[in-house]
Amino acid sequence: MTIRRASHLGWCFGVRDAVGDARAAASQGPITILGDLVHNPAVVESLRKEGVLTRHDPADIATRRVLITAHGASRARLRQLQDMGLEVQETTCPLVHKAHAALDALVRQGFHPVIVGQRTHVEVRGMSEDHPGCDIVLTAEDVDGVEQRPRFGVVSQTTQPLGLVLGLVDRLRARFPGSEVVFRDTVCQPTKDRQAAAEQMARDSTVVVVVGGRHSHNTRRLVETCRAWCARVHHVEHALELEAGWFRVGDRVGLTAGTSTPDEEIEGVEGRLRAMAMGMEVGDVQGVGVTGLGDRG
Ligand code: SF4
Repeated sequence: MTIRRASHLGWCFGVRDAVGDARAAASQGPITILGDLVHNPAVVESLRKEGVLTRHDPADIATRRVLITAHGASRARLRQLQDMGLEVQETTCPLVHKAHAALDALVRQGFHPVIVGQRTHVEVRGMSEDHPGCDIVLTAEDVDGVEQRPRFGVVSQTTQPLGLVLGLVDRLRARFPGSEVVFRDTVCQPTKDRQAAAEQMARDSTVVVVVGGRHSHNTRRLVETCRAWCARVHHVEHALELEAGWFRVGDRVGLTAGTSTPDEEIEGVEGRLRAMAMGMEVGDVQGVGVTGLGDRG
């Protein structure tokens, strides 16, 4: 059994910087993050131990300082927090700011705003709260429910797979051939890199392991991408979830991880996979669940 990492995987610079900012802020005194800084339970727990509280409703914030996550907030939300007398610190990724700016510019130019993304995701809420009446689409059915407008201005949530986004933009154009449809590609480069690397790796693997939080949107997207190319794909949050029965002698195991997955978790999973592979090499099938070893002496 061989193990190979995708060429791009794990924490992106935006999440890395946000976690660093949160740690630095916590060292100055108690602080609350509005929403999950990253969709990774181990990271959230380690930040909690360092004094970073997580709250989902501004009314529940009991500290003087509040932190905005890497995926940003609307101007309306920032104003609300400031009006509550809170000191607001943003860890918003520059690529999320870029997506907000692209949508703002389209609206200023007279386009009806359309966001390709998950309605409940903090980044999409952040963009849509500043543009009430915008359309939010994620499926073909969503596009089919959009009302006709003369001009549509489309942006994407930064962590959507570009192929999905382009497909929905094409569908919008096909549905309203008489309308002007302008698309600004706001999918972030780390997401593109991880998606492309995951696809390339999954095409050449017999099994794929994707490491990341179950609530992590971009990790789940990586799982979907890998499933398009590989029949045996497993999503784990940490090494202890790996099951020996998933692997066989001769497997080419591909490893990838979402943008919110810290290096230690990737290394933990890779280390356990290597231990399993080593067990197969020496014929130590105990606890490994290897098949096909009958003639190995
Ligand atoms: S996934 Fe992309 S947009 Fe989000 S924090 Fe990372 S680099 Fe920034």
